[in-house]
Amino acid sequence: MSFDSHCHITSDAFDEDRQEVLRRAWSAGVQGVVAISSTPDDARNALRLAEADPRVWCTAGLHPHEAGEARKGWDLEVGELLTHPRVVAVGECGLDFHYDFAPRASQVEVLERQVALAERYDLPLVIHSRSADSEMCSVLRGLPPGIRGVLHCFTGGDELLDAGLEAGWYVSFSGIVTFSRFDGMDQVRRVPEERILVETDAPYLAPVPHRGHRNEPAFVTLTSRRVAEIRGEDPGEFSRRVTENARAFYGLEPTGGAA
Ligand SMILES: [Zn+2]
Ligand SMILES: [Zn+2]
Repeated sequence: MSFDSHCHITSDAFDEDRQEVLRRAWSAGVQGVVAISSTPDDARNALRLAEADPRVWCTAGLHPHEAGEARKGWDLEVGELLTHPRVVAVGECGLDFHYDFAPRASQVEVLERQVALAERYDLPLVIHSRSADSEMCSVLRGLPPGIRGVLHCFTGGDELLDAGLEAGWYVSFSGIVTFSRFDGMDQVRRVPEERILVETDAPYLAPVPHRGHRNEPAFVTLTSRRVAEIRGEDPGEFSRRVTENARAFYGLEPTGGAA
């Protein structure tokens, strides 16, 4: 078993065969997927998928890449989506100073707005952070008490990892752990067993041996196996653990449906 805690199943990369892709995930033993959204419109599409399948949940939020072009009232749209029981987290949101697709000030403002939404609706945050370690550390250290979250597709430095762990957050690893030049093994070992998650971030970042091709939720099993290997844990036990962790983080009932 396994659980894909972060994938973009609404992506047009899956327009031709979305249901087939999900079927392959279930056959591979994936117990559930969280369809992460990047805009309110994307969240509505993700919610449609979640309503159609008890093994799919979704998020609502605004990706930092979209922060510069957010339409007026986007936060009200997100807030309304967050009241739906199949919408289990705010995001993905965060800071991306690598691509800088949106002005940094807008990224920060849009992130702060989503921290407030997470507090108001008592939902966890799915955080994207790229080349923005020190700014994200400040955000983490200044959080209102009780804000839960995950650092998704973690590729940051030790300071960010520490800030996340000190905040009591989860840390999620993607297919990057299977790449030959992956250098974060110590970080993979340092995350406590009850706070680690795995994800595909599909259609991006396919793990080896699919690297360079479209990623899909079934491949989360490869990432899970590699993380278990790095940590020196039994792969079967580890995959049960990350499945439990994903359910605990997102507040999901084992049989489907949000808690
Ligand atoms: Zn991301
Ligand atoms: Zn993502």
